[in-house]
Amino acid sequence: MSGLHCFIDGCQARVYAPAGTRSICKDHFLGFLTWRRRRGPQMFRKYAGLTMEERDVIAAEWIQTLATKDLPHPIPGL
Ligand SMILES: [Zn+2]
Repeated sequence: MSGLHCFIDGCQARVYAPAGTRSICKDHFLGFLTWRRRRGPQMFRKYAGLTMEERDVIAAEWIQTLATKDLPHPIPGL
């Protein structure tokens, strides 16, 4: 476990489910699910059979897509 908060940078939500060896909040977990679903059923099946370390690699790949994703509009207050 890595604390009580989502490990995604800037996210203060409470952890909901594991992503590899770390834990993420419900919103991010749903995003991760959606991302894997979009990659097709093979990714889903593959992920289930991976070790924690291998899941970290998949999760890291997903986090990259979060970082590069264009935000619909600027975050207020920044
Ligand atoms: Zn989060």
